[in-house]
Amino acid sequence: MRRGILFVLSGASGVGKGTVLSYVLSQEENLFFSVSWTTRAQRKGEVHGKDYYFKSREEFTHELETTGFLEHAEFVGHLYGTPRRKVEEQLAAGNDVILDVERIGALNVKRLMPEAVLVQLVPPNLSKLRQRLLKRGTDALEVIDKRLKRAVEDMQFYQEFDYVIVNDDLATAVDDLEGVIRAERLSTNRIVPSEFMVHSSKDPSLELELDDLESRIRASGQ
Ligand code: 5GP
Repeated sequence: MRRGILFVLSGASGVGKGTVLSYVLSQEENLFFSVSWTTRAQRKGEVHGKDYYFKSREEFTHELETTGFLEHAEFVGHLYGTPRRKVEEQLAAGNDVILDVERIGALNVKRLMPEAVLVQLVPPNLSKLRQRLLKRGTDALEVIDKRLKRAVEDMQFYQEFDYVIVNDDLATAVDDLEGVIRAERLSTNRIVPSEFMVHSSKDPSLELELDDLESRIRASGQ
């Protein structure tokens, strides 16, 4: 059985990762979202255990020192981390997993697991990103300013990602991410040789039918 593929979606906050991801997750089978831990406050509409596990700094630090995270990072004053065990269990069971993490976490994952597929989602331009953050209204103006500065910095690392997707039109961005997922699933790098042998093996019952067909063709003198 092939091991699951680890997809890492990264991109500035406000770029639409959550929305793109929710469409892709609703359409793709065998793709599981890894719910992160965070010390930031829960936003209106967010669900504990679905969007994040909202934790205190003490709980987060304890987890860091014990079970551990696959990766973790501080982002604009808060800690974020990917629970290691759940991701490893899914991959070992052959299920594909997708993470939504900022750039430092994404690049740390690539260092640990070079076979992970890194995708950076970018806005069509910085003003569109600013517009989305202001309209979303979930962050204070100074936080928005920090997030925009961080976005410019993050985009400079685009070459360390495997794919870049522009989120201008939502449907196109969703389509692009699905395209990446499908292409990676078909990659020859991921083929398990013993499983691939089936394509050059014979099907005994069909072979019997075909032998019969062949003799009839011969008998009819064609
Ligand atoms: P937000 O506070 O807007 O939900 O997320 C802020 C940033 O933290 C986003 O770029 C998001 O991708 C990132 N993030 C969410 N979960 C994790 C995680 O587990 N690890 C890391 N490194 N970043 C995360």
